Amino acid sequence: MNAALLERLRTELDERRATTGLRRDLVVSGAQGPTLDVGGERLVNLASNDYLGLAGDPEVLDAARRALRETGLGVAAGRVLCGTRAVHGELEARIAELVGAEDAVLHHSCFDANLGLFDALVGPQDVVLSDALNHASLIDGIRLTRARRHVYPHADLDELERLLTASADARHRLIVTDGVFSMDGDLAALPRLAELAERHDAVLVVDDSHATGVLGATGAGTAEHFGLRGRVDVLTGTLGKALGGGAGGFVAGDRAVVETLRQLSRPYIFTNAMAPALAVAALTAIRVARRRPDLRARLAANTAWLRGTLRDLGYEVPPGEHAIIPVMLRGGTLAADVASALRRDGVLVFALSHPVVPAGEERIRVQVSASHTAGQLERAAAAFGRARAVLAGS
Ligand SMILES: *Cc1c(COP(=O)(O)O)cnc(C)c1O
Repeated sequence: MNAALLERLRTELDERRATTGLRRDLVVSGAQGPTLDVGGERLVNLASNDYLGLAGDPEVLDAARRALRETGLGVAAGRVLCGTRAVHGELEARIAELVGAEDAVLHHSCFDANLGLFDALVGPQDVVLSDALNHASLIDGIRLTRARRHVYPHADLDELERLLTASADARHRLIVTDGVFSMDGDLAALPRLAELAERHDAVLVVDDSHATGVLGATGAGTAEHFGLRGRVDVLTGTLGKALGGGAGGFVAGDRAVVETLRQLSRPYIFTNAMAPALAVAALTAIRVARRRPDLRARLAANTAWLRGTLRDLGYEVPPGEHAIIPVMLRGGTLAADVASALRRDGVLVFALSHPVVPAGEERIRVQVSASHTAGQLERAAAAFGRARAVLAGS
């Protein structure tokens, strides 16, 4: 191995260890669910994106097992060669139906979907306008285009409007936003974004990964939540969160957009096809998510209860309604210390600190699921109550 590269990497890792510390993955045993087994302890799980509890749904798991027996594990070929099975197309049709689009194209992940999107749709004559807190995959996907790029401060739609006015000469302008932002759980201001897009003849692109299946009466996402079904031009999302948590991402939109992606999106073309059993699992999860509005109602009730209870305990919880609940614990290692105390007390949460969030904006991110029982949420709230001792000592 090249000594100079090793030397540089070791030096940089040492620096990182000494400053931000090195990330270490938590090793979990068993299946994803409202509780998790970690190192022999059973913890209330407030850290997953399994918003509807479908990762453990018996119907989803049975369908996947049956598909595995019938179709085997993987196809060892790309979609564009001999990797496509009927279930891939069926899943794409059901995704389009769920979000109210003409068509959809499947990727291995929403990260892949976002990586392939922008280079396929726009070029040097175009402008991409992106919210500063957009997901890393949107940021990277936008980096891969040769379009002009501008980042507007988070949710600053006056600045966005200024940029739209200033870029009127471009062939196309794309406004790109998360539907729900993953650090704060805040929703994009879609009514004004849709109005701005229309008035400036721009294209509205929304990554609804935290909203597909979750928000709106039928789970269509952020647009449905705001009564704006059909007003988002291009929608991307994941099957790895509320829709079973297996894997997969998609882009949904008009037929011409989707067809263009099938022809040009590099993470669609130059990769293996999704294992059919995973596609069957996602298909089943979508079916269950559509049939069970009670899951969304339960999620909303669980979320409202925990938000209110954490506030009553004296924690700073910014207003919001999404199942992502930021609990602000600003400064130093407070958030990390409270997360450690909670972990020792049977509750799994993660602290977010610089550089994931700005210094001074440290927080614990709590994520609620429809699968949490009242007892589990009460246990978690009691632990948050006891963790206030950490605050008192800081
Ligand atoms: C989770 C997430 C992704 C990545 O989704 P995967 O399917 O896991 O790759 C992309 N965008 C946003 C906004 C997300 O929250």
